[in-house]
Amino acid sequence: MLPVKEAESIIMNLVQPLDNQRDVEIVDLFAATGRILATAVRSELNFPHWDNSAMDGYAVRYADVQNASEENPAILEVIEEISAGYQPKQTIHKGQTARILTGAVMPIGADTIVIQELVRRQGNQVFVLATPKPQEFVRHKGEFYQAGAQLLPGGIRLSAPEIAALAAAQCSQLSVYRKPKVAVLSTGNELVTPDQPLKAGQIVDSNQYALASVIIQSGAEPLMLGIVKDEPEALTQAMAIALQSADVVISSGGVSVGDYDYVEKLLESNGGTIHIRSVAVKPGKPLTVASFEDKLYFGLPGNPVSALVTFWRFVQPAIKKLAGISQDWKPKFIIARTHYDLHSDGKRESYLWGKLDIVDGIYEFHLAGGSHSSGNLINLAQTNALGIVPIGQTLIPKGEEIQVMLVDL
Ligand code: AMP
Ligand code: MG
Repeated sequence: MLPVKEAESIIMNLVQPLDNQRDVEIVDLFAATGRILATAVRSELNFPHWDNSAMDGYAVRYADVQNASEENPAILEVIEEISAGYQPKQTIHKGQTARILTGAVMPIGADTIVIQELVRRQGNQVFVLATPKPQEFVRHKGEFYQAGAQLLPGGIRLSAPEIAALAAAQCSQLSVYRKPKVAVLSTGNELVTPDQPLKAGQIVDSNQYALASVIIQSGAEPLMLGIVKDEPEALTQAMAIALQSADVVISSGGVSVGDYDYVEKLLESNGGTIHIRSVAVKPGKPLTVASFEDKLYFGLPGNPVSALVTFWRFVQPAIKKLAGISQDWKPKFIIARTHYDLHSDGKRESYLWGKLDIVDGIYEFHLAGGSHSSGNLINLAQTNALGIVPIGQTLIPKGEEIQVMLVDL
């Protein structure tokens, strides 16, 4: 049994990220949410595109208003009105100003904005009642971004803030990594699909769906290859198809020591290199990891909770790395107070499922109610965190601090 950390580092070392030239596709900005930039983006546009006003007010020459006060206002003549989108026609000379609105282009000659709250307007004249700071409320061309510089680095995941920057910089087509393909197989003679009638002794293949769902959430594309019988020939064939068509293969079931558990033996006899045979983790001890040249194979345990917990802990980081995220994506651990006693057998690192809440500004872990059998997937619903009991500990009492792994939903 490998310690969790050791298993994690073996897996991460096996992953070769997608290639930022070959494994890419072009997508429209609109479809880029959640995708990972393959290469750095530069724009030919400055941002702001031109000097403009940050406020509603008057565009002035600082020299004209530097001694303005309520008792001694600077009196300026308004020669133009500049709203956003309008190209100013006049130059501001000594004693002149232009009415200007937020986002509108600064007229030539003016260098400072006086906000409208600090002036009194009378017809064509404004009385400036206070001295602004030099260049106050002017957003200068290129102040936030200079054309040609790196706007965003490669290897980052795109969401609203990056999409906004890309839109403003008129980068409407992007080179992103293709989504890694992850094949999913469910092994077991007892399995039926959710829409098949359930005969005595049969079990619904929930893992196929659960795994497809977390694969999508991890930014990859699931290939659902269905249910495979616990028969060496059928399994061998399914493994071969899966390895051919995907970057990563995940099977569930058939990795324990039962009479029908063939996965590990077949991985070996079909030319795979086994890197992990079992991990000191609960649930999930029989986790099996193999490689076939550049393809990775994860044999997850069949119990639905074991399959999901081992996915979150070991497979998701591997998929994120494969997908091209440049900074190693790691599961996030935080310290929280446990709201219930947490029990473990002390022999393996235990991951107990539940919810993380914030109570009076402090993270609190609430163990899911009901059975913590790894076959109980019903109370897994709404899980957003796993409370961890380290090896050697059998009880963490209510109120104590524990490590919690966040489940990335
Ligand atoms: P195994 O790891 O094959 O020994 O399976 C352990 C337990 O998980 C058994 O009770 C199986 O019926 C159940 N199981 C295996 N595969 C699945 C699956 N795809 N969906 C739901 N339960 C499963
Ligand atoms: Mg089985």
